[in-house]
Amino acid sequence: MTGDASGPGDAGSTWAILLAAGAGERLGADRPKAFVGLGGRPLLAESLERLDASDWIDAIVVAAAPEWEEPAILLAEELVASKVSSVVTGGATRAESVRIALAEVPPDALVVVVHDAARPLVDDAVVERLLGRLAEGLDGVVPGLPLADTVKRVDRGVVAETLDRDSLVIVQTPQAFVADRLRSAYAGDLAGATDCASLVERSGGRIGVVDGDPRLLKVTTPEDLALVSSLLAGG
Ligand code: C5P
Repeated sequence: MTGDASGPGDAGSTWAILLAAGAGERLGADRPKAFVGLGGRPLLAESLERLDASDWIDAIVVAAAPEWEEPAILLAEELVASKVSSVVTGGATRAESVRIALAEVPPDALVVVVHDAARPLVDDAVVERLLGRLAEGLDGVVPGLPLADTVKRVDRGVVAETLDRDSLVIVQTPQAFVADRLRSAYAGDLAGATDCASLVERSGGRIGVVDGDPRLLKVTTPEDLALVSSLLAGG
């Protein structure tokens, strides 16, 4: 499952879907989140470059926001991201963007890794953990972080229940899946899906959890962007 010099689209390969089609309204920028500046270049550049350089990824499909496909293609060219096979126009929701991108993954791909461009600091160590665990016979694997805070379920402003923190994790991307399992999960109803794994779970799939990475935080607000910038600057 290591990188293959013969280029994108080969049989039995590991494909990445890089989701960059969100509007990112909470950032308050004049452009989609994937194109706000991070370290002097578009935020998308960071994850694109890292996945392209990954020993574990053979080909990449990028989902870009409507009218931002061309800038995404130009960025891939500028970065010489040679694993980029196609750039598609994303859908109205994250799940729809995944479904559209998945249609570009060839039928003989074995594994699909789905990643949010909004989490720029992806590295090969987490991808390696995901794929190692996936090979144990699971349908999918996600990175998870333990919770530092107590979590309560609240009903109309009143605590209904205090949850057992030790059995909970915060789930990140990238998430890795057996390609056929992901395809069948996305053939069904997408309503309410906040990540890919939840759809695979819903269709009866078994999802493993490996250690996540605190650096994989998701850029949602300007404060998140500042934090990721300082992590990036600090190496
Ligand atoms: O909006 P949020 O940050 O939760 O989105 C997570 C990821 O999904 C982002 O990388 C975003 O670009 C992507 N997304 C997408 N298509 C959408 C909505 C979100 O590709 N319609």
